[in-house]
Amino acid sequence: MGETAFKLSARGRKIADWDIDWNCVDCGTNTVPSVDMAEFERSGAFTLDDRCEVYWVRKHVWHLAGNPKGSLCIGCLEARIGRRTKPKDFPRYDPHIQNIDAALNDPSWPATPRLLARRG
Ligand SMILES: [Zn+2]
Repeated sequence: MGETAFKLSARGRKIADWDIDWNCVDCGTNTVPSVDMAEFERSGAFTLDDRCEVYWVRKHVWHLAGNPKGSLCIGCLEARIGRRTKPKDFPRYDPHIQNIDAALNDPSWPATPRLLARRG
């Protein structure tokens, strides 16, 4: 287990607004097993570790995957699009355009080894 934990307060609140289901819609894997949902509901903050697959991909990639309403683990996303994802599929946060969703791709945030290998 990764010891590094990150609190995403303001960002977490934004994520809460999505009313997202964190289980992969294809295989049912919980993409955020480290998150205490009660704490998340209460404070909007949550903790990621190296079991988590939280990411944001460019619109055309999600579109290729069929625009699922919910989450996909990276393995199921790649199965749907028929190829491995690569760093350019994961937009970086840009303060000029305030793409807050892309903050999920911050390279300093913990993720599963396979997501780290793709996202960079
Ligand atoms: Zn999956």
